[in-house]
Amino acid sequence: MKTFYTADHHLHHSGMELSFGRIVETFEKPERAEIVLRRVKEVGLGPVIEPPAYDRAAIERVHTPDYLDFLQNVFAEWRAAGRDGEVWPYSWRHRSMPMLDAPPSGLDARLSYYSFDMAGSITETTWQAARRAADTALAGTDAVLSGERAAFALCRPPGHHAGRDFFGGYCYLNNAAIAAQRFLDNGHARVAIFDVDYHHGNGTQEIFYDRDDVLLASLHGDPDFEFPFHLGYARERGAGRGEGFNLNYPLPAGTGWLEWQAAFEDAHARIGAYAPTALVISLGVDAFKEDPISQFKLESEHFLTIGRRIADFALPILFVMEGGYAVDALGINAVNVLQGFEGA
Ligand SMILES: [Zn+2]
Repeated sequence: MKTFYTADHHLHHSGMELSFGRIVETFEKPERAEIVLRRVKEVGLGPVIEPPAYDRAAIERVHTPDYLDFLQNVFAEWRAAGRDGEVWPYSWRHRSMPMLDAPPSGLDARLSYYSFDMAGSITETTWQAARRAADTALAGTDAVLSGERAAFALCRPPGHHAGRDFFGGYCYLNNAAIAAQRFLDNGHARVAIFDVDYHHGNGTQEIFYDRDDVLLASLHGDPDFEFPFHLGYARERGAGRGEGFNLNYPLPAGTGWLEWQAAFEDAHARIGAYAPTALVISLGVDAFKEDPISQFKLESEHFLTIGRRIADFALPILFVMEGGYAVDALGINAVNVLQGFEGA
């Protein structure tokens, strides 16, 4: 299997984050992609390919132009306002406050408008890194469109928390959604996104919620207790034409393999029944038992099984790297999915 990767991911590094009351080194650090890359090479998964640069048009199929302009320019605005350090939002709309229908003009107000948390900052080169992560997903998609059975887009920063016009959860551009849309724009009629990351793919859900040409199935920590909260309940099944094409599997803290696997198999069957012509896997491996910010109990061997079962879809498949923060095992767990797939 070809892996698409660029060292340009180093252009994004938030440095620190606020985690459970402490300022700590960010969990979403550049080392993550390097560890996965090292494992890809160690097991001889296949060639590692630098993605070309794509036009913004491919990203505008998913994200709004005003949001992209904001992401591109906000760091310069921050500096022009006389501020040092990185760009951080710090306040968000509460349910008692009216929803704005257009971006406000003030810098901090706009930061609030285009985000939902402060998991990650915007640095001078975050825009470039996020663009290169999207390029990585696009190049992987194009390889599959050209006849590869599957490809691995080793994207960083990750993407599934980013919506049409917002960032959050370490995510700025939704790489998996951009890939799914590219499949549709190149002859595919129906695409499924299978999100096995520990966290709910709230951005992906928001992007495709009213559409029937993309089915999203997401297994995740119940939003009643787990980030990103508010979204990811089973009752959210899509709207309008999209009714029935959004499948959420919220699971309790402490979920082990058997419970996780039961939800995975249910989602697997429903994806099969949808009869997609291409599949995108939002490949987070933070359901691992030692993940520092997650509360499921999967073991490394289970990721092999996940890969084997994904191979049972006789479909063109793009794997897109999302989360996974137990860095000692991150390479093994992510590549186990790919090796399980290849060995099936
Ligand atoms: Zn995650």
